[in-house]
Amino acid sequence: MQSISALEKERPLVLIVDDDFTIRLLMREALEQAGFLVVEAGNGPEALALFARQLPEIVLLDVIMPDVDGFTICAALRQLPGGARIPVVMVTGLDDLDSINRAYEVGATDFITKPIVWPILGHRVHYILRSSRAMEELHDSQAALRQAHDELELRVQERTTELAHTNRALHAEITERKRTEEALQEAHQRLRFHVENSPLAVVESDNEFRVQGWSSQAEHMFGWKAEEVVGKQPTEWRFIPPEEKDTVSIVIRELLTGHSPRTVSTNQNYRKDGSTIDCEWYNSALIDEHGRLISVLSLVQDVTERKALERLKDELVSTVSHELRTPLASLRGFAELMLTRHFSLAQQREFLTIILNESKRLADLINDFLDLQRIEAGRQEYHFKPLDLLSVVRETIAIFQANSNGIAIRLLKEPTLPPVHADADRLRQVLLNLLSNAVKFSPHGGEITIGTRQEGADVVVWIRDQGIGIAPDTLPKLFTKFFRANTKEIREISGTGLGLALVKRIITAHGGQIWVESALGKGSTFFFTLPAVAATPALLRPNGGVVNTSPHPLTP
Ligand code: ADP
Repeated sequence: MQSISALEKERPLVLIVDDDFTIRLLMREALEQAGFLVVEAGNGPEALALFARQLPEIVLLDVIMPDVDGFTICAALRQLPGGARIPVVMVTGLDDLDSINRAYEVGATDFITKPIVWPILGHRVHYILRSSRAMEELHDSQAALRQAHDELELRVQERTTELAHTNRALHAEITERKRTEEALQEAHQRLRFHVENSPLAVVESDNEFRVQGWSSQAEHMFGWKAEEVVGKQPTEWRFIPPEEKDTVSIVIRELLTGHSPRTVSTNQNYRKDGSTIDCEWYNSALIDEHGRLISVLSLVQDVTERKALERLKDELVSTVSHELRTPLASLRGFAELMLTRHFSLAQQREFLTIILNESKRLADLINDFLDLQRIEAGRQEYHFKPLDLLSVVRETIAIFQANSNGIAIRLLKEPTLPPVHADADRLRQVLLNLLSNAVKFSPHGGEITIGTRQEGADVVVWIRDQGIGIAPDTLPKLFTKFFRANTKEIREISGTGLGLALVKRIITAHGGQIWVESALGKGSTFFFTLPAVAATPALLRPNGGVVNTSPHPLTP
């Protein structure tokens, strides 16, 4: 066996295994000439031992050898690490086809037949080595290619899985976004619905109070259409007069100060038609982290009616307390007088009469006032039914006369009068009030007449006196609460100023009307109407007269 120097390294190392010394010699000769570095083994064990030290680059292997044949050596080489790549060339007889087949089976690369053609042996071995190397390289690059392909396929697969995952996530996100968008849209629609149906006007403004949103209730309340006000400041659309433009900056300042982005203000605003309304503005401001105003949402309530009512109530309270205090002061004054001083019997009687009259006036005032309050609050119950008006009139006259020393009252008879649709008690109250006024305001006496007549679908009732009469300028105020003509004569006549207000409300509740004709010093006539009940056969007597449902006799 020979060692290989570094210089010889580039020469391919060929192992010749043959038991024939001469063939080995000839082969060495031929192969060294062809540029190979040659090692030899004379038998199988020698060859195997050599493999253990260093693998050659090509082996020329004799098939038939005494101890271990070529097939066994070839098979053993193929099992060694790196042994599979070494080209093995079997050297065999030309006619030994069986050996050739076996040689291929155990992994031989090629074969050279004997007798060996020595001059071409070197070329042949070079060729086999080159083609074997080429095959190996091809095999290597194929393997590398396959590996690259497999890796690529794996990456493609990974990427596909990743993409599918991303795709699913994206899909889920899109679905979620769609759902959120739908929910948002629904919430927006709901909000719009509430804004449009709010009983309050909804006004949205930017940081300079330019209108951005204007609900239909706002259109209705102020008379301006959205397109007329959107983008404009209140002064521009004459919602507030230009000289009051400071109001806007005051409201903005209020919203920004005090860390309370809410204000409530009551303003008098102008409608498009120029009329004014009292409005309560509930403003809420959106302020950014730097304390700057972004927008303002205002809910506006029309409080005109409430304000008017409040004013009326205030007036009423002061009038009522005044009206109650006057008789009370007089009651107290006379009682104190009588307790602290001595008076003659006649004087005592006089004072007690005053006390009695004043307490009656107080009671009347309280009763009338409570009646009026009940009617105004809608708590008065009416029992409407078809009534024989004349019977109620006769009955009332009788009651009135019983309480007023049989004062003379003339009733003008109306033979054919349809029944009226009325509440008997309230109708009596109306008649008693008007009769008592007629008597009260006729201090010098005179005739009092009651008359009735039919006028279309109504029946008109009138009460005439020949008393002091009413000045034309006071006529329009006659039916308002607590009104009393401000004359010396009237002041001397007791009264509450509530009777006519009460009468008017009762008549109105009947669907009727009330008015007065008067001349100062000559007397007054009060008229009112009641709806007639359409005549039905059941209500008519055979002679055409009206059924008299009242048993009371008529007082002449
Ligand atoms: P009162 O009779 O208690 O004063 P009313 O409401 O009945 O209150 O009447 C209001 C006012 O109308 C009276 O104070 C009076 O000035 C005037 N008035 C009512 N009826 C008559 C009448 N028949 N003649 C003259 N003035 C009348």
